Amino acid sequence: MIVIGAGLAGLVSAISLLQRGRSVTVLERRSVPGGLCGSTHINGYKFTLACNDFGSSMRRYLSEIGVSLTFDEHASVWHVGDEKYVLPPTPETQETLARHKADSDRLAEAVSRPGFDEKFESAAQLLEATVRDPGYADFRTLPSYVSGLDPAKHRLDWFLQGTSKNPDYGYDNLITPVEGPEQITEALVERLSRLGGSIHYDTDVHGIHDTDGGKAVTTSRGEFHTRTVVSGKERFSSNEPRSGLQLATLHIATRPEAPFPSGVHTVGSLPAGLGRSMAALDAGRFPGRFGFHIFPCAATEAYRSFNVYFYYPRGVEELDEPTSTAVRNYITGELDRMIPGFASAIVFQRLVSPTQFMNEHGLRRVSIQDILPAGTGKPAIRDAATGVYHVGNTVGPPAYHASAAVLSGLQAAELVAPEAGRARTA
Ligand SMILES: Cc1cc2nc3c(=O)[nH]c(=O)nc-3n(C[C@H](O)[C@H](O)[C@H](O)COP(=O)(O)OP(=O)(O)OC[C@H]3O[C@@H](n4cnc5c(N)ncnc54)[C@H](O)[C@@H]3O)c2cc1C
Repeated sequence: MIVIGAGLAGLVSAISLLQRGRSVTVLERRSVPGGLCGSTHINGYKFTLACNDFGSSMRRYLSEIGVSLTFDEHASVWHVGDEKYVLPPTPETQETLARHKADSDRLAEAVSRPGFDEKFESAAQLLEATVRDPGYADFRTLPSYVSGLDPAKHRLDWFLQGTSKNPDYGYDNLITPVEGPEQITEALVERLSRLGGSIHYDTDVHGIHDTDGGKAVTTSRGEFHTRTVVSGKERFSSNEPRSGLQLATLHIATRPEAPFPSGVHTVGSLPAGLGRSMAALDAGRFPGRFGFHIFPCAATEAYRSFNVYFYYPRGVEELDEPTSTAVRNYITGELDRMIPGFASAIVFQRLVSPTQFMNEHGLRRVSIQDILPAGTGKPAIRDAATGVYHVGNTVGPPAYHASAAVLSGLQAAELVAPEAGRARTA
């Protein structure tokens, strides 16, 4: 059978099918595996490509397909206006949370009442009605920030899903492979080849059509015939999908002695008025203050490298020079406030827009590819009209991160298993 795409979802479904005794060929249009899970080199410095920390369920899903990796567990630190939250909560953060208990209780009580989801349509409505302290409201807006959504347009069920950390994802229980996210990809590729699977790189799939008793997959390298196709391409709910905001990256390299809190992966900066800031971005404007987060990519004797992620305004492809400079100055200024001495250790910076990233790597930089209308769920893994199985974040569990993509791969393999056949090249 054919699996399209050697991203995490495609690789996991391929391995799961191989484990069930199927013959699997993976077709990947890039020259490397892993999709958004990998690394890249710029100016001799190594940087993480996109995904970097994972829900703790990742360990379990990988072990289901015979892949065992060592993960570190790190804390996350979020600077929200004047307050600081460490997740999982330290005693100091527990004190901060205790100060906001009345707001927290009001919010919990509101969502426990029957019919609350008819009363509030969006994250912003719920927070406005229940949380009185603006700083705490900013902290509770974190799921909207992580999703790249204006909280006024963030579906309530999605927002609560973000808070409920399903499947096992949340900033208080994240894990990272000890040597970086590309370790997951490397381990999956090794497992796939050990089970007899193969990957054809530089093979762009153009279309799939039915043949007598099977399917023909047309690619830049000829046609493949098979009975079953699992596709890691997005399965959109409509012809005009609207995505969440796109993430840009400021790559930073520092001298090796640059300060960074130990035992911490992500350090985030969320401005006072985060909701308004996200709304401005969604409306296509760069707000003066905006949320961003930084995490370490590599540490050698010669340097340390970090990625800073922040959102581009909707519809903006490139920033003009003054805005780009202002953005970089804002980020480095905030970094120095959160991590004193960090800015003076910087030796290299490169800002990569989502468009540049797409041009360089052929991958989109959005967490949510398809904002579904309220009341609707993701399309099914199996497209009844075409018989093609889909994997990745546009199908499968109602969440948008790597663990959910991997779970969709496992779910697809389970659905496919009874009817899979052998692939051959025409
Ligand atoms: C900037 C960013 C940061 C993120 N950070 C995190 C994080 O820290 N933690 C987390 O859990 N999640 C994170 N995510 C989400 C996570 O990266 C995704 O959920 C996950 O990588 C999706 O895996 P996938 O295999 O479905 O898709 P992808 O990684 O996009 O892989 C799809 C693969 O299919 C290939 N392909 C597509 N079309 C074709 C075609 N026509 N022919 C052949 N091949 C094709 C692509 O080249 C690619 O290799 C992040 C996402 C982004 C954008």
